[in-house]
Amino acid sequence: MPDTTPYPHLLAPLDLGFTTLKNRVIMGSMHTGLEDRFYHYGKLAAFYRERARGGVGLIVTGGISPNRQGWLLPFGGTLNVAGDVLNHRRVTRAVHAEGGKILLQILHAGRYGYQPLVVSASALKSPISPFKPKALDERGIEQTIAAYVRCARLARRAGYDGVEVMGSEGYLINQFLCARTNRRTDRWGGAIGNRMRLAVEIVRRIRAAVGRDFIIMHRHSVLDLVEGGNTWDEIVESARALEAAGATILNTGYGWHEARIPTIVTSVPRAVFASVAARLKQAVGIPVVASNRINMPVDAERLLAQGQADLVSMARPFLADPDWVAKAAAGHADRINTCIACNQACLDHTFANRRASCLVNPRACHETTLVYRPTAARRRIAVVGAGPAGLSAATVAARRGHAVTLFDAADRIGGQFNVAMRIPGKEEFAETIRYFGRELELSGVDVRLGTRATREDLLAGGYDDVIVATGVTVRHPRIAGIAHPKVLSYLDVLRGGAQVGPRVAIVGAGGIGFDTAEFLLHDPQAPLPVPVDDWMEEWGVDPRVATPGGLAPPRAPAPVRRIWLLQRKTTRPGAGLGKTTGWVHRATLARNGVTMMAGVQYERIDDAGLHIVVGGHNQLLDVDNVVICAGQESLADLMPPDGARGGPRFHKIGGAALAAELDAKRAIREGAELAARL
Ligand code: FAD
Ligand code: NAP
Ligand code: SF4
Repeated sequence: MPDTTPYPHLLAPLDLGFTTLKNRVIMGSMHTGLEDRFYHYGKLAAFYRERARGGVGLIVTGGISPNRQGWLLPFGGTLNVAGDVLNHRRVTRAVHAEGGKILLQILHAGRYGYQPLVVSASALKSPISPFKPKALDERGIEQTIAAYVRCARLARRAGYDGVEVMGSEGYLINQFLCARTNRRTDRWGGAIGNRMRLAVEIVRRIRAAVGRDFIIMHRHSVLDLVEGGNTWDEIVESARALEAAGATILNTGYGWHEARIPTIVTSVPRAVFASVAARLKQAVGIPVVASNRINMPVDAERLLAQGQADLVSMARPFLADPDWVAKAAAGHADRINTCIACNQACLDHTFANRRASCLVNPRACHETTLVYRPTAARRRIAVVGAGPAGLSAATVAARRGHAVTLFDAADRIGGQFNVAMRIPGKEEFAETIRYFGRELELSGVDVRLGTRATREDLLAGGYDDVIVATGVTVRHPRIAGIAHPKVLSYLDVLRGGAQVGPRVAIVGAGGIGFDTAEFLLHDPQAPLPVPVDDWMEEWGVDPRVATPGGLAPPRAPAPVRRIWLLQRKTTRPGAGLGKTTGWVHRATLARNGVTMMAGVQYERIDDAGLHIVVGGHNQLLDVDNVVICAGQESLADLMPPDGARGGPRFHKIGGAALAAELDAKRAIREGAELAARL
């Protein structure tokens, strides 16, 4: 570590008495989809090996169930028999070989399990699983505790440095802790002293079984964000009991999965819950971990320096960049590939039962198959288009040793991300442009901005390969009156700064239609990103947790416009948005009085407004402007005609290859995969 590090608190070791963590950074638990099948453990080991090599102080695995009742999904990852130990040893050996430390997370899903064996404190179905749980009886509770202890013992045998007991986010332990889901009248229900008994007994008995020199981190729910959640006094009482029972570290958890307040999406301000962790730190004597929406060293350092926590936990930022800590330690935070909290390739994949990865780093969880090997035959490569697809292709190819020239007609790199980052709550998208900008410099790409490439230039340039990453062009739907002056495209509004009146109809309710609505709802005088206190008020969060669950009446500012968001399909508007983010966009628009209409037929646009037919009835929306967000079409006119011979090999990626269902995840992955092959 250089003496001049800007992150002295982040990089300071933490002595736990029996072992020392080399810095204050924890890679939080993430379900990657690789932990559920034994034949994926080699890939899982490679995934963790890269993160350990990147310098993170402590890694926590994805959730592993202590028994079958605790499965999140049928046949999910379980550690309950000695035979499982061998798989896990592959992981622990890989991490230890790189000088890292790793905890196994024990996760019993309780009523969140998406399988018929589910159990809970009481027989109350959760709103996010179709399976009604069976209430555990006394014997079942004892067996469950024994399963946790057995799992921890096996974890120790497998070489883990400790366990994290998942006690938050609405899983089994949290279900016992809160009156919302615990209606028992025996010694496991009623007052907090009884409701916390399961959590405390699990820690106490694990400690008795594994001895003193084994980390037990408990993830404690400090803000349930659901009705019937705990109050601050109850949270502190249970935290102190966990400390007394033998917990080494208290991690913090925010919001049950069924909560209707977002806790990790990109529009949630950075380090939003640090003040809650800080209050817990005042109340207990063991180290406390801050988490949620911490993604860059500057924020992590600040909250550690202010004494708000002893450690920071980040999960998704380590999908985005395995070398996060090493780059910070070397004073190169500007080289970090920042997690933009989009959830598109991580959580959205997990919820679709697909392997997790990362929008900005397609190698995540594909370390053994997407490999950027140095090239033996240096090629001359032209990349046309410095949007996400072209940036990804250019930087990977150059890192591999190819001679790369990157053209963009615009005077800056980033393509459509320059527009996306203007949406309130999407400020993080600027980080991806910053990252690629730095990568272009470091990898020695010859960047030619303000240069519209033509096929002739490319043919004359002596290139071996030409990668066409020219993106898309806006679709203009055929609606009578489309040339009326009140009609604008989303680019006129978002990039061109067009004047927009107080009443607006948006044609097209895809991702960009929703984003444009959020842009138009935002008061341009209000600060961005939204300050933490304003965000708390808007969503109804009481960070002092004076009320059960920390819920307060939401108080959003009055919307600055009246908006109609329209689509032709009869499905629910926004149905195509991300599984874990779409509900946030829909809730934001609904709160701001946006009328979302499906099954709309567009008749004409004139001075009176937009004439539509819905359900067979004519309607006039007397709007000042109609903003078109009706998708895009590919722009790939640089490609040679079919059958053309000679010259460089042409490839197309991203929007240029296919406009339908284009997103940055696909664009960046296609760029990286092509460049890895050349
Ligand atoms: P582009 O980003 O369109 O880049 C193409 C580049 O090629 C441009 O810079 C252009 O100037 C250049 N170019 C074109 N022709 C030439 C030429 N002849 N010579 C030189 N240069 C040329 N995606 C997500 O995944 N998640 C989101 O949340 C998200 N939000 C969005 C919000 C908004 C408001 C917008 C507009 C888009 C959003 N997207 C989002 C979509 C995402 O930005 C695109 O999928 C992605 O940018 C496509 O990448 P690309 O590289 O294929 O094309
Ligand atoms: P999109 O998701 O394909 O949506 C286009 C919208 O326009 C649809 O609502 C469609 O609905 C409508 N439409 C299509 N053709 C039309 C026509 N001829 N006339 C009238 N309406 C028409 O595209 P997008 O919103 O432009 O987004 C582009 C890409 O960016 C998307 O693929 C998305 O993945 C990505 N993006 C993602 C996010 C995110 O949060 N993840 C945010 C923004 C953008 P009907 O056909 O039913 O009318
Ligand atoms: Fe972060 Fe998005 Fe990558 Fe997930 S997919 S790790 S949220 S950048």
